[in-house]
Amino acid sequence: MNPPAPHGVAEAQEHRSPALTHRAGLSRGELRYQRCAHCASAVFPPRTLCPDCGTQQLGWERSTGDGTVYATTVVRGRDGAHNVVLVDLDDGFRMMSRVEGPAPQDVAIGDRVRFRTTADGDTAVFEPKEDAR
Ligand SMILES: [Zn+2]
Repeated sequence: MNPPAPHGVAEAQEHRSPALTHRAGLSRGELRYQRCAHCASAVFPPRTLCPDCGTQQLGWERSTGDGTVYATTVVRGRDGAHNVVLVDLDDGFRMMSRVEGPAPQDVAIGDRVRFRTTADGDTAVFEPKEDAR
């Protein structure tokens, strides 16, 4: 009647909810993604099956957080304008996010950016990677 080991519980939860594992990484300031053990594809957003080969052999890796803006658009709303970007991470996956810091229209395709989390730790955003300029 021993309680299950905390590690085992965490693993079970990770298996049930890849999105939960991703969010847990963000709360620690990490951008986590999956890599398929079968075909080596980088997988994002997190899921239970490899979109390329269909296996469940997805392992977690921590991204370097460095990437390049693939596409950018400015969205204007009641609270002002912000940008929405697609970033190609150096690790081989693409994600939708936003670049914070510069004016929304000043973000350009090809800009080098670096991942960080918002102050609440809930959201992955990017900022210009100054040392690349
Ligand atoms: Zn695969």
